[in-house]
Amino acid sequence: MFNNLIGNNKIKNNLIQILNSNQLFHTYMFIGTKGIGKSEFAKEFAKGILCNSNEQKPCLKCKSCLELENNNHPDYYYIGLEEENSIKIEAIRKMQAKVQELPIVSKKKVYIIDDSEYMTKEAQNSLLKTIEEPPEFVVIILITSDENKILNTIQSRCLKIYFQNISDDEIKDYLKEKHGVKNISENEIIACNGSIGKAIQIKEQKDNYIILENIFSNIEKYTLPEALIKLEILYKDKENINEMLDYINVILLNKAKENINYINYIDIVEKVKRKLNSNCNYDMTIDYLIYNIW
Ligand SMILES: [Zn+2]
Repeated sequence: MFNNLIGNNKIKNNLIQILNSNQLFHTYMFIGTKGIGKSEFAKEFAKGILCNSNEQKPCLKCKSCLELENNNHPDYYYIGLEEENSIKIEAIRKMQAKVQELPIVSKKKVYIIDDSEYMTKEAQNSLLKTIEEPPEFVVIILITSDENKILNTIQSRCLKIYFQNISDDEIKDYLKEKHGVKNISENEIIACNGSIGKAIQIKEQKDNYIILENIFSNIEKYTLPEALIKLEILYKDKENINEMLDYINVILLNKAKENINYINYIDIVEKVKRKLNSNCNYDMTIDYLIYNIW
């Protein structure tokens, strides 16, 4: 169990122990940085809870394990972010409408609420009722990267499990072994910030990150026209602009160790982020970034 998941070995052992002892809590809260595998842990844990085998769980052979693998398990419910980046009361009500119904395939039912800090106040208050008196066969797993946004009355009824960030070495090993990435720069590792999700994203856009690294760690060597040509990606790849700006900051921060002037450039990048968030003209904002740094 958990063989495919990286890091957090203590938690792996704890969850396996919980499954073996059959002493399940009704509500768990998985807490930790985005992208460190909390959702994958929760799904694997759910698989173990729902498995019908009397021996090693999950057995990967029983009806429950197979149906979960095919995303077709009637006793497994996943609630995630909806439009407008929130989880509204309707989603919670939909869950509650069936929460009292007995499980069909397994002995338990598992509800996962991912990014649960995005539940609206109404949604949280509504969920509270279920958490206060859950049917005995129900297990709820709340996943969050910011527990403070969740009502205290909910928090106090959860068994909290804190996930650690993945270590730099674990990330390097993961990228090497699973994705064959050999050269990982110091800046890339810093940008991962202990998140496998981030590491995958950086791997997928490696070409862009190499360009950013070349330019922003050697700003003095480029003329403005050269920089504008090379930094075309900033204009083109609007979807990933926030990630690229974060990465530019990592590069600048690293350079600032040698030359304190680089700190000023970080202010410019932060200003650009704010401008983009407030819907300023995109191309003009990128112009602003490049012209000001040069
Ligand atoms: Zn099974």
